[in-house]
Amino acid sequence: MITKQKGTNDIYGIEAKKWQYINNLIDELCEKYNYNFIRTPVFEATELFHRGVGETTDIVTKETYDFIDRGERNITLRPEGTAGVVRSYIENKMYGEAIQPIKLYYNETMYRYERPQSGRDREFVQFGIEVLGSSDPLIDAEVISLPVNLFKLLGLKGIKVNINSLGDTQSRNNYKKILVDYFKPHIDELCEDCRIRLEKNPLRILDCKVDKDNELLKNAPRIIDYLNKESSDRFEKVKEYLDLMEIEYVVNPKIVRGLDYYNHTVFEIEATVKDFGSQNVLGGGGRYDNLVQELGGPSTSCMGFAGGLERLIMALDKEDIALNLNLTTDCYIMYVNDEEKKYAVTLSQELRMNGFKTEIESMSRSLKSQFKNADRLNTKMLIILNSEDIKNGVINIKDNLTKEEKKIKETEIIDYLDANI
Ligand code: AMP
Repeated sequence: MITKQKGTNDIYGIEAKKWQYINNLIDELCEKYNYNFIRTPVFEATELFHRGVGETTDIVTKETYDFIDRGERNITLRPEGTAGVVRSYIENKMYGEAIQPIKLYYNETMYRYERPQSGRDREFVQFGIEVLGSSDPLIDAEVISLPVNLFKLLGLKGIKVNINSLGDTQSRNNYKKILVDYFKPHIDELCEDCRIRLEKNPLRILDCKVDKDNELLKNAPRIIDYLNKESSDRFEKVKEYLDLMEIEYVVNPKIVRGLDYYNHTVFEIEATVKDFGSQNVLGGGGRYDNLVQELGGPSTSCMGFAGGLERLIMALDKEDIALNLNLTTDCYIMYVNDEEKKYAVTLSQELRMNGFKTEIESMSRSLKSQFKNADRLNTKMLIILNSEDIKNGVINIKDNLTKEEKKIKETEIIDYLDANI
């Protein structure tokens, strides 16, 4: 037997219904915020992720699915959504469109060669939003608010929004120096990766998973204490707008995010549900003002978020939240002989095209078993055909809840169902 690959999942049954429910909610909420759906390719040139995500990030150094295709091109399966969206923004010259800023969302599979564990898969789905072309701090607050509101609408209670500011280039460079001076005398106390980070990207030491309990990290200088006035005023604005939206948050100086491209606002949303384990970050994001230029486009200020759907569903399950899934069937068409079957086929077409969720018997079951099957499908209306009724132009309908049974003229069936379902 061939089995699925490590770190991948089959989604079916009730689980699939939950996914569809959440996907619909994402679509509806993004519509309300006026974000448009974008679909970019699953595979891109390897170089896009090296330049876009950053040469020193774990994602690029250890986790990408790379291959050489039959045309000898270096290809990578996307490990995250932003690089592809930015490539598309530049390639399609969206910066020249009349409507600005460009507000986009995606909801797609991502691929990372990680050591699979709970909440960490090799194929997973990220829902993400990107606003390209506005540097207004209100956009930072808006991008934070959208996933928070999604989680609220789903009924999730235990969430914590951590925000921080990395400041502008000047603040960031200044802080980097301070950080290097702080860590250098203690280089031997850091993990192997962090020793390299000290040279290449010292900020990333702060979110190291290996060194996270090291006192050295806990006492490290905090970037918010080193922001220049402009950056600090900007951060105050973001917080003010979040307050106006009544989005609760805590300023957490440890949030620097794994990716190289962030500046100013960065944030992470954590599930605070009990027993969630270490993979409890539902998503995060931040402002990236240099990436578009880095990838060959015009200087463009951007802000984005990405969150994992597998982890979101885990959080909902841990909080025992029952989603309002539609597990009912409007009509079940029952029959026994071939004449009735043909009538059933015609009728099923009419009911479905008029918007009723309709099941038609297809296992040649006895009438008794058909009743049982209709119950399993939580059917509201049982349509029990018989040759005599067909001759008389009537249809026998039984309300499966009240058990009331009626003969309705076949010309009035749609009106009857409209009024009674
Ligand atoms: P990142 O792009 O690494 O900042 O991840 C953003 C979110 O995507 C995380 O908070 C998770 O919810 C989700 N995510 C990232 N990597 C994985 C993975 N390997 N498996 C499942 N979900 C993931």
